[in-house]
Amino acid sequence: MKSTIVLLGPPGSGKGTQGEKLCSEFGYVKLSTGDMLREAVKNGTELGKKAKEYMDAGALVPNDLIIGMMKEKIAAADGKVILDGFPRTIEQADALGEQMDVDIALNLDVDDGELVKRITMRRSCPSCNAVYHLLYNAPKNEGVCDKCGAKLYQRDDDTEETVLNRLKTYREKTMPLIGYYEGKGKLVTVEGVGSIDEIFEKVKKAIQ
Ligand code: ADP
Ligand code: ZN
Repeated sequence: MKSTIVLLGPPGSGKGTQGEKLCSEFGYVKLSTGDMLREAVKNGTELGKKAKEYMDAGALVPNDLIIGMMKEKIAAADGKVILDGFPRTIEQADALGEQMDVDIALNLDVDDGELVKRITMRRSCPSCNAVYHLLYNAPKNEGVCDKCGAKLYQRDDDTEETVLNRLKTYREKTMPLIGYYEGKGKLVTVEGVGSIDEIFEKVKKAIQ
């Protein structure tokens, strides 16, 4: 099984959900830039203060901040690693390539209409970062995380307006990574539609 996996795919394509399942089933460690940034914002760190305005606008946080944040995390990671939300630009991919070999870039393919529906109905756990969907993957008790009991919330950038900007940013800045990893023979695309478990079956086959 592959040991370093980059998750590609637009916002709402299921990177966090599928990545989480790979962690619990196969012992991967997931590094999620979105979770790290939200943590930095919550803690009011310098990085968090700088990142928040970009995140709320649906733009990318500047490369130097992200690469700086990821460098030490990647250096500290050993074993099976999943990168969720990094790289998101060619410059970030080049920086990653200097630090570690990527075994596979798993591209979750989902159409825009479905993405908007998923993201605006998404609810997140501020404590353990679990994600839910009000219809497709609702928590057992309304508004409460199944895993840790914390109160769920809607991310500031999960509004319809910001989602459209995030999709535009994805197309301009991140989509070129599909060709980038394809050129290196690392790309595998999985159609990210169906139930969470159906998609997970395809994901498991893809990373064998
Ligand atoms: P999603 O994949 O649903 O858009 P994330 O939680 O991965 O959400 O990211 C949320 C926001 O954090 C992004 O819209 C962006 O502003 C910022 N961000 C996350 N990862 C990166 C990255 N690698 N480079 C630049 N900005 C990033
Ligand atoms: Zn939780």
